[in-house]
Amino acid sequence: MANIFLLDEFTVSQIAAGEVVERPVSVVKELVENSLDAGANRIIVNLWEGGTAGIEVCDNGSGMDEKDAVLAFQRHATSKIKSSTDLGRVITMGFRGEALPSIAAVSRVTLKTRPPEFVGGTQVEVQGGEIKEVRPAGCPAGTAVTVHDLFYNTPARRKQLKSAATESGLISDLVARFALTRPAVSFELTLQGRKAFYTPGSGELIDAAVTVFGADMVREMLPFEGSEGTLKVEGYVSKPSLSRSSRRYQTIIINGRYVRCPAISKTIEDIYRPFLSAGRWPVTVLALTIDPFFLDVNIHPAKLEVKLQEEEKVTGLINRVLHEVLHNRSVIPVIRPGRPVKEEADIRQPALNLTAASSQLEKEELLVYGQVDSKNCSVADAGIEAEINRNQPKLPELTPLAQLFPTYILAEGEEGLYIIDQHAAHERVLFEQYNTSAKKDNGGSQILLYPVTLELGYREVQLLNKYIFQLTEAGFVLEHFGGNTFLLRGIPSYLPSGQERQLFLDLIESLEGQEQAAFPQRLAAAMACRHAVKAGEKLGMPKMKALLEQLAETENPYICPHGRPTITHITFHDLSTKFKRG
Ligand code: ADP
Ligand code: MG
Repeated sequence: MANIFLLDEFTVSQIAAGEVVERPVSVVKELVENSLDAGANRIIVNLWEGGTAGIEVCDNGSGMDEKDAVLAFQRHATSKIKSSTDLGRVITMGFRGEALPSIAAVSRVTLKTRPPEFVGGTQVEVQGGEIKEVRPAGCPAGTAVTVHDLFYNTPARRKQLKSAATESGLISDLVARFALTRPAVSFELTLQGRKAFYTPGSGELIDAAVTVFGADMVREMLPFEGSEGTLKVEGYVSKPSLSRSSRRYQTIIINGRYVRCPAISKTIEDIYRPFLSAGRWPVTVLALTIDPFFLDVNIHPAKLEVKLQEEEKVTGLINRVLHEVLHNRSVIPVIRPGRPVKEEADIRQPALNLTAASSQLEKEELLVYGQVDSKNCSVADAGIEAEINRNQPKLPELTPLAQLFPTYILAEGEEGLYIIDQHAAHERVLFEQYNTSAKKDNGGSQILLYPVTLELGYREVQLLNKYIFQLTEAGFVLEHFGGNTFLLRGIPSYLPSGQERQLFLDLIESLEGQEQAAFPQRLAAAMACRHAVKAGEKLGMPKMKALLEQLAETENPYICPHGRPTITHITFHDLSTKFKRG
């Protein structure tokens, strides 16, 4: 009864390839790591169709002679360790000798390489893991690997690929992270032959940060550094005036490697908690240098997570250094020339008048919730779906009783106790108001007295280019000023003025990974989010009452524009059962 078979070589390589090469971004990661390991200080990544049509990584590193160029495609061929005893002191990025064979197993690869001291180079062609051709070739010093037809022989994998835009977004993010971890290396990314990204490789973190985040953002960031014994920490953190609606803008680098380190993330978030509203995160680049002895790096190349030995020592140092930076005078927001000062002043005023909400919105202190996983929220969560009848008002008449935390409004209604999330509810109200005005105004613009200069990061420029038509149609007037700089000259006419910059940046951010068709709703949702009353803000009875009345008038009072429930309900029946009243 022989049920156990040895897998053939091809199957083995396909399985291994599946582990290392999940999608185009994993190919780029492995190739760039090889270039870094080869000592390159200039790395160019060229992408076609988000890498699905082609990926090329060129470097000016050590290159390989003909023998090594061929060996490199053999499984477990590596120049980086000789035996398991070397594993403890691995400082290079890759060492398992798996990347090139795995990539080659699921694509067609051309490798051109020449060590700088050689006159001639070598070209190797590999297809589905088989070496097809090796010949001398003229090529620049260094190595260029071109990967075509990724997953051509694994159709299931190929099917799983997302759109070119999504794949190139992932790759742009990856290259951006590499650029931040290695400021001394110049990185360039082109998409379809057009330059999307370039860092000078000056060795200064700030130069890489300007490319990644844009000069606007970097101006709102503060440098920090500190050390304790052999432990060293340095980087840039955002002033409390700058925050984002996702954690994606946090970069942690340990010993020159981008990592995830929950202990450090938590330390940073705890420090910012008093400064930021819920759902907002700081922008941070934090580079830690530490004796590798105190680090538990999971040595699987796809895993980025590290654990720290003597964690308290590290988090203690970070805590101390960041506290010093954040409690300094420089934290006060910069007022840029060319912008009306009124704008800055208004942001400080938390006055809210919900009865005149539509005209007074610009006076509010604002809050933006992050993207919410809409899968976890549904109308049913509101617990009142079954009571709905088309001819009846969508909500029962509600009388506010009190504010809880102060984030929720407790209200009494005919069917029991209702709990309303004040931010989500106000978002819903504003969202519908904006949608209606947008339809009426039909793309009209108001020209700003002072144009707002936007110095954007690479990601924002990509999104802006993608959505320029929709933005213009919606009433935004934008002018390209050169490089990554744009002038915002006008905004949709129904928008309250003030805060144009933040609103625009929030809008752009919210477009990431979205369908183009939903643009007007995205815009309305971004604005509603920014202008809605925030969680934690105290509301008096009249404001609560006004908000509940306005919510009752909306088309869909049960969920906010991001899909979170606005209201939940405990029935009298539930209460009677709980208190055993029968
Ligand atoms: P690993 O990086 O784990 O050693 P790879 O399959 O990624 O395994 O690469 C195999 C070997 O090929 C490397 O050890 C290195 O010697 C060589 N190599 C790969 N890419 C380059 C490059 N860009 N420049 C110089 N040598 C390279
Ligand atoms: Mg490698």
